[in-house]
Amino acid sequence: MRKYVIAGNWKMNMTPSQTKAFITELAPMVAGLDKCDIVLCVPYVDIATAVEAAKGTNIHVGAENVHFAESGAYTGEISAAMLKEIGTEYVVIGHSERRQYFGETDQTVNLRTKAALKAGLKVILCLGEVKEERLSGITNEVVRMQTKLDLADITADELKNVIIAYEPVWAIGTGLTATPDQADETCGVIRECIAELYGSEAAEEIIVQYGGSMNDGNAAELLAKANVDGGLIGGASLKTDKFTAIVKAANA
Ligand code: PEP
Repeated sequence: MRKYVIAGNWKMNMTPSQTKAFITELAPMVAGLDKCDIVLCVPYVDIATAVEAAKGTNIHVGAENVHFAESGAYTGEISAAMLKEIGTEYVVIGHSERRQYFGETDQTVNLRTKAALKAGLKVILCLGEVKEERLSGITNEVVRMQTKLDLADITADELKNVIIAYEPVWAIGTGLTATPDQADETCGVIRECIAELYGSEAAEEIIVQYGGSMNDGNAAELLAKANVDGGLIGGASLKTDKFTAIVKAANA
């Protein structure tokens, strides 16, 4: 029996003081809503504040990226050990904005995933097709290929700390949402691919989230689908009332 995971991705939003105010407001709103795990993935500079503000609540804190090297001459980068030491539990890897604007490839996604898992972080691994790929009817091939490449050399044991976020790129930040059936079908394709790679038990256990303009109005319908185990939420995670409504939909 899989437990929903509702995760916010704040992107480049919120200062530390705004982070403290947000979590202080959110915590009582989501208290006791324990049928899902609640995660906020926040900018690096907000993590320490978020961890402190979330102490004693059911809110978990994640980062939005991590470098793949343990340490060294990588000016401006942050390692998995650094994240771990300040109380980070989760990390988003391979978000389409990183693939699109910062040269992220399946190979670097794979390296980052391995480094994060080795350090004891839980990974929210993002993948999904672009609009042209969906229109050409190759979505299934694209997500299967990404799943295989992004998880290369990751063991079945390590996979227990991986969540996959299926995020059709055309639906992120656009207000366009995959229909519940599209989300269910593609999350199902990813699950089938996991079954081929790791066996049916691993496929039954893995959390596959949907992400792409999920909001308080459409969350219930998307989450009702058998293969959708939660959401990765951008815009709607920046408002406590909207985010709480999604958490409540996962607790209904
Ligand atoms: C995201 O950032 O992963 C995302 C899904 O954004 P939005 O919900 O704003 O589409």
